[in-house]
Amino acid sequence: MDTNRIKELVNSHGPLVVEKIGRLLNPFFLNFKNEKNRLLVFYFHGLYASEREKKLNHIDPQNNMTLNQFEDFIKYFLKNNYKFICPEDMNNDLDSSQQYVMITFDDGYFNNLLSCEILEKYKISAAYFLTTGNISENKSYWWDIIFKYRSKQGNSLENIRSEQISLKSLKHQNIVDYIVRNFGISSLNPWSDIDRPLNENEVKLLAKHPYTSIGNHTHNHSILTNYSRDEIVEELRRSNKSIFDMIGKYPISIAYPNGNFNDLVISIAKEEGFQYAFSIQHKANQLPVDNDNLISLNRFMASTDKINDYGSFYRMGYVPNYLFYSIKDRLTSFIKRK
Ligand SMILES: [Zn+2]
Repeated sequence: MDTNRIKELVNSHGPLVVEKIGRLLNPFFLNFKNEKNRLLVFYFHGLYASEREKKLNHIDPQNNMTLNQFEDFIKYFLKNNYKFICPEDMNNDLDSSQQYVMITFDDGYFNNLLSCEILEKYKISAAYFLTTGNISENKSYWWDIIFKYRSKQGNSLENIRSEQISLKSLKHQNIVDYIVRNFGISSLNPWSDIDRPLNENEVKLLAKHPYTSIGNHTHNHSILTNYSRDEIVEELRRSNKSIFDMIGKYPISIAYPNGNFNDLVISIAKEEGFQYAFSIQHKANQLPVDNDNLISLNRFMASTDKINDYGSFYRMGYVPNYLFYSIKDRLTSFIKRK
């Protein structure tokens, strides 16, 4: 067998092997593991009212879950004695004998309003990071447009993913140009309540809800590491102003689109007055979080796998995919050094 074939096999089976071993060993290790003094942050995107909505393919199903799955997620962490908090709660000293979890929703989908009744039912809070450009113009999110149109054309999921990934290196206007060139200007219009963003009145309602916190997700969902200092400042300020105009106060937190940040992004986020910023590094946060890390907090992607099967990974502080690749990277760089 040639080395490329071996590499292929390792990459396709590795994460699964790590997952299988984890499922077996995690429950055992969790008996001894101290889960206190840590904060697990999760990011969600869209919510479906039902399985039927999911099948309509109005949004890219990756990372989106049904309301029932969302409720199961909450029940799982309550059952395991986790306390739910939102960014504002971090202004107070968190109790070191507690284990915390935070729910965050990225992008500002209208369907996020579905979460409110669950938050009320369990009296827990969540943070919502808004892409204000989509909200003010009622525009579909570009990754959903690619997904909707390409799946309609019969493209494979693999091709759709690689097209989406290739666009992530572009600036916002170039992505819009690409979408319009490929699917026409009308593709920017949402298809239904499933794929549309919140409107301004709905943001006001969401912000008034007792269990919600509103945060910045830039104006154009700009992956900030692709931009210059002035452009980053402009993206953060425009979104902040728009949020202020809608809800009468400035957000204290930001979620970096696609989780991307660098030293420049961090220093600007601090200068612009954000107290907390969220990345998508799939790890737990140890409490107390030191000042530097408050502006690049780790977040797990909320997996749509059954939480009762998968939750042990988060509680152990890793997800199989990322653990596999980090072990692999370390091994490769070790071998190269030899
Ligand atoms: Zn986003």
